[in-house]
Amino acid sequence: MNKSDAERVASLLQSIGYKATKTIDQADLIILVTCSVRQSAEDRVYGLMRQIKKLKAHNPQLKIVLTGCMALRKESIKRLKDIDVFLNIKDLPGLPKLLNKKSEQDKIETYFSIKPQYESSFTAYVPIMTGCNNYCSYCVVPYVRGREESRSPQEIISEVKGLIKNGYKEIFLLGQNVNSYSPKLKIQSSESIKDFPDLLEQIAKLTGKFWIRFLTSHPKDLSDKLIKVITKYDKITEYINLPIQSGDDQILKKMNRGYTVAHYKNLIKKIRQQIPNAAISTDIIVGFPGETKEQFKNTCKLFEEIKFDMAYINQYSPRQETVAARLKDNVSKAEKKRRDKVLTVILSKTALANNQKLVGETLEVLVDAKKSEYWLGKTRTFKVVKFKSNKDLLGKFVKIKIARAESFGLWGNLV
Ligand code: SF4
Repeated sequence: MNKSDAERVASLLQSIGYKATKTIDQADLIILVTCSVRQSAEDRVYGLMRQIKKLKAHNPQLKIVLTGCMALRKESIKRLKDIDVFLNIKDLPGLPKLLNKKSEQDKIETYFSIKPQYESSFTAYVPIMTGCNNYCSYCVVPYVRGREESRSPQEIISEVKGLIKNGYKEIFLLGQNVNSYSPKLKIQSSESIKDFPDLLEQIAKLTGKFWIRFLTSHPKDLSDKLIKVITKYDKITEYINLPIQSGDDQILKKMNRGYTVAHYKNLIKKIRQQIPNAAISTDIIVGFPGETKEQFKNTCKLFEEIKFDMAYINQYSPRQETVAARLKDNVSKAEKKRRDKVLTVILSKTALANNQKLVGETLEVLVDAKKSEYWLGKTRTFKVVKFKSNKDLLGKFVKIKIARAESFGLWGNLV
């Protein structure tokens, strides 16, 4: 989401005459697109501000704008004295005015309608909604991103059509919870889009060779209709990020997640039955206030059982404003670290076993980077593949025969 926001910020700045500098010390204007999801993300901004403060001492004209989630947090506003403008990302169309510049993109209705300056020439992030109504007890997003707002399907489809026309190969549809996408229906037609599976289906029907990915899904909202749409269209890739956050029902309740472990397992069962080659990743918080060793063991059990392909494991840190911040953060840092390690070991084992099943198979891969003599790409299931080739393959689909598997990567040869 931050990448996508930054692409909109960049294009707006360009439209009012700014050019990107190579290094931060050459800038007249610095915009920080921030994240508040964890304390470590905020700490990086506080660290960077020390550097920026020195730059400002040498260049009093230097303007600093802070946008993204931290711009709406009282604590950040109080602490960050050197910021000239705190900007709600939704007010991005008003930035030229704040900088006393006239925008050429003057018909901008909302932040969504700003045409982004895509960083990549083959992968694009397309926001379909912003905000969240779920109020999970540990999460600051509803307070800083606001309530859910869905972007109009016409606008999304028109952005995607433009991307396909320009040769984009991988399109990420983004939202804090894409499954609760619910546009205001302006146009009633036979193809009216009422929910996320409808939107996905309309995009999948567009002609061209491209992959569609989406982030992120909430287990309480992922519907049978969505699973069915994924199975129906080749363009929708079989990678599902489904954050469970804890493998213990009591903790899930304290987190206000709105589902049980049994519901989650049932969902995984349905996904695996209907999309047999799906890769599933999850998000986990270890050391939530009051999480006992027994409750943590339930998460370990779930990891052993589900056999995730990937998991983003976070050690709990309290976020002010949230309900959980009022609970005693009573799991020590060392214990959180230990739980993180234990889960990582299980994950490495299950991910490796999943990847080993792919050895000998030929997979389609979208090449997205080169590191020393190796090309790197991703499979449909979002697995990293490394291979060698003398050809320039960046941004191209290739076929790779998998020769070797690691927990978080595959090695292969170009077919
Ligand atoms: S679903 Fe929960 S964790 Fe995700 S953004 Fe919304 S409140 Fe935060």
